[in-house]
Amino acid sequence: MRITVLAGGIGGARFLRGLKAAIGEADEITVIGNTGDDIHLFGLKVCPDLDTVMYTLGSGINEDQGWGRAEETWSVKNELAAYGVGPAWFGLGDKDFATHIVRTQMLGAGYPLSAVTEALCDRWQPGVRLLPMSDDRIETHVVIEDPELDGKRRAVHFQEYWVKLHAAVPAQAILPVGAETAKPAPGVLEAIAEADVILFPPSNPVVSIGTILAVPGIREAIVAADAPVVGLSPIIGGAPVRGMADKVLEAVGVETTAAAVARHYGPGLVDGWLVHTSDAGSIAEVEAAGITCRAVPLLMTDVETTAAMARQALELAEQVRG
Ligand code: GDP
Ligand code: CA
Repeated sequence: MRITVLAGGIGGARFLRGLKAAIGEADEITVIGNTGDDIHLFGLKVCPDLDTVMYTLGSGINEDQGWGRAEETWSVKNELAAYGVGPAWFGLGDKDFATHIVRTQMLGAGYPLSAVTEALCDRWQPGVRLLPMSDDRIETHVVIEDPELDGKRRAVHFQEYWVKLHAAVPAQAILPVGAETAKPAPGVLEAIAEADVILFPPSNPVVSIGTILAVPGIREAIVAADAPVVGLSPIIGGAPVRGMADKVLEAVGVETTAAAVARHYGPGLVDGWLVHTSDAGSIAEVEAAGITCRAVPLLMTDVETTAAMARQALELAEQVRG
């Protein structure tokens, strides 16, 4: 079976680890990763979501944080700070820096991001085919009301909004800058068209999955695909399990509930939707919107629990297969 998964960072990566444990040897996973979080820092190209997937599946992740390398040290960051060179708010450890140096060097030599990602994965052996959503530069920006400018509007890079400002300032709009003229990376549309199942893990619906869907051709390919599309809710009990997805959902006018996220994707895009057991009360609302819905445990506490979630998603995919 060919399984194609759209993924952001932590939520996507942890789900993929469970999915890998749930499938058989003949099954193949292709991951279409979000690159809207990418940022240039210290002259280096940093791809946080691709790296979170790569490190998590390659057993190099800092488990507690969910991002960055295990057993990390911070000499380079401290030395940069001693020169007064920031930003200080973005955590790049020494081991992580090496990844960004290799990536930037290869990009400078003319390799597209998809080829660079493949080269980095040669080392990490994530056990999935990891594709960036696009080789073109796309950066999510957030229009905020800046409290330091008496509430005047200004656009900031998503990382500044998320990491520096902790999504604590009102967001007016989320803009995937560059998406409108971007093309899907090589292999992306084929992975969608040839998939037997398409999964949306519990990734951020706006700034992870939403950004991937903003690349022209990707949403259309999913809608046109023969494969059933099943999503798992990142929202449990009216709140994100981790992080601040509620802030960006509010910015796009979507309520922070498992059902509202399903309706936001819509029945044209997803055929099946899993909500957490405690949200079983929202099944009727999701099904009224034309999406088949089940309530199952959705907390990714360990790999076995996550594998069970993945099996539920694959089972639902079989049920909704047209
Ligand atoms: P990011 O790029 O690191 O923000 O990661 P993603 O976009 O892939 O995933 C973020 C989402 O994962 C958040 O909205 C969380 O609510 C969700 N999430 C994290 N842990 C869990 C979990 O155990 N269960 C579920 N259902 N969602 C989770
Ligand atoms: Ca992300």
